[in-house]
Amino acid sequence: MKLYNTLTHTRDEFVTHEPGKVTMYTCGPTVYHFAHIGNLRSYIMEDILEKYLGYAGYDVKRCMNITDVGHLSSDADTGEDKMLKGAKREKKTVMEIAQFYTDAFFADCGKLNIKIPEIVVPATSYIPEFIEMVQGLLDKGYAYLSEGNVYFDTSKLDEYYVFNKQDAEDLEVGVREGVEEDTAKRNKADFVLWFTKSKFEDQELKWDSPWGIGYPGWHIECSAISVKNLGEYLDLHCGGIDNAFPHHTNEIAQSEAYLGHPWCKQWFHVLHLNTQSGKMSKSTGEFLTVSLLEEKGYNPLVYRLFCLQSHYRKSLVFSWEGMDSTKTAYNKLIAKIAGLNPDSAEAVDEEAFVNLKKRFSDAMDNDLNTALAVTAVYDVLKAKTNDATKIALLKDFDTVLSLNLLEEAAKVREANKKAAEAAKNAPAAALVITCTTEGVDAETTAKVEALINDRAAAKKAKDFAKADAIRDELTAMGITIVDVKGGVNWSK
Ligand SMILES: [Zn+2]
Repeated sequence: MKLYNTLTHTRDEFVTHEPGKVTMYTCGPTVYHFAHIGNLRSYIMEDILEKYLGYAGYDVKRCMNITDVGHLSSDADTGEDKMLKGAKREKKTVMEIAQFYTDAFFADCGKLNIKIPEIVVPATSYIPEFIEMVQGLLDKGYAYLSEGNVYFDTSKLDEYYVFNKQDAEDLEVGVREGVEEDTAKRNKADFVLWFTKSKFEDQELKWDSPWGIGYPGWHIECSAISVKNLGEYLDLHCGGIDNAFPHHTNEIAQSEAYLGHPWCKQWFHVLHLNTQSGKMSKSTGEFLTVSLLEEKGYNPLVYRLFCLQSHYRKSLVFSWEGMDSTKTAYNKLIAKIAGLNPDSAEAVDEEAFVNLKKRFSDAMDNDLNTALAVTAVYDVLKAKTNDATKIALLKDFDTVLSLNLLEEAAKVREANKKAAEAAKNAPAAALVITCTTEGVDAETTAKVEALINDRAAAKKAKDFAKADAIRDELTAMGITIVDVKGGVNWSK
C-alpha cells in the first residue's frame, strides 16, 4: 500500500516496525464544544484508514487521547484555555464539560459509523506519565525551568521544523499567531511542557509536580500517551493538517528527545473542510454539526459519502448543494442495491468476485483513493454477474466504507414491499354511476348499479370474460352503459 507521508512529502510504501502489525495514534478532540463536521472529516478518513489496514490483513492497535486539559486556544502556548472557556460559557465545571462533550463526540462518531479506537485515554488520567516524561526531558538536558514553567529547548535539536523546512521562519510560534512573545522562553520555537504559573486565576485542574502545582502543556499528552500504549516505535500518526505545526512538530521533538531514536516514520494528515466563505470555525459562520445535518434531513452517512467522494489530501468545500447531490446519489445507489435479490440461492462467482475486489483494493492501496473505491461499488452493480456475487462484494467493501449499503437497501426493500401490499389491499375508488334517463325506479337502479360495480371489479381483477358477460346481461335488460372518466353513465 502506498500512503502519502507528510514527513517525506512523497507517497511511500507503507512499512511497519513489526511485520503484519500496525500501531496507530490519533490526536483526539479537545472536549470543550461539539465537534464540527470539519473536525469529523479527519476522523472519518482515519476510520477508513484503520478499517482498510485491517481489511488488508494488518493487526491494527489504535490509540486516541481526549484533551480535557492544557489546550490553549492558539494551539501554541498563548490564548485562553479551551476547557475553561467551555466551562465559563456553560457555567459548569471543567470535568462536567469534558464528560458531556466526550459523550457527544462518541455519539457523532456512532452516527457517522466511525469506530472508536480500541484505546482511548483522557489526558487528565495520565498526569504521572506526563510528569515522568517531562522529568526525563529535563534529565537529558532537552528542557529547562524558567519563570515557573518547564519549556522544551528546541535549540538542542538538529532539526525542529520537520514537516516544512522551507517555511521555518513563517511557522515560528508567535510570528504566526501574531501574539506577544513569552519572554521566559530561550528560543522563539520553545514550548511549554508543564505550566506552574497558570495565566488563569480560576484554573480548576491542577496537580502537584516536582516543579510546583500546575498542569501539563497540550503537546506532551500525545507523546506520553502514545509511548505508554503503543511502544517506542509508532507506525502511523494521524491528524488534521492543522495539527502538523506546532502540535505534531512538538510531539516529534519531545518523543525523539526522550526516546533517543526516531519515533514515528509515517504521518497521515487530512486536509481542511472549508465552507464557501473560507475556513470552517466554531466561532464564525454557521456552526456545522452532525445534529444540524440531521435537523436539515440528512442521514449522517450522506456526509460520510460526501467526504469519501473526495481525496483526503485535497481541501474539500462544503455546501448544502453538495450535500443535496450526494443525498440523491446515496438514495439512488441504495435503491439500486435494493433491486438485487438477497435471497438468491446462486453461488458466488469467484472469478468475478476476485476481479471486482481488486478494483477496490487497488484504489485504496493508491494513497487511500476513496473516490475511486466508491466507483468500484458502481462497477459491482453494473457488472455482468449474479446477485449473490454482487451482494457478497458490497458486503465486503462496506466493512471499510461503512455506508450501511446492505442495511439501508434492506429497509428500502421492506418499505417497497409494504407499499405494494397496501396498494393491493386499498379499496377501489367508488365509481360515480349516473343514470341519464329520468323516472327509472329504485329497484332497477339498485340492480343496475350492483351489476356495474361487479363489472368494474371483474375488470380490475382482469377477468374480462366476466366483465363482458355482465355487460351482455345489462344489454339484455335494455340498459346501455358508457364508460366515462371516474365512472359509468347508463340509460334505459
Ligand atoms: Zn496529538
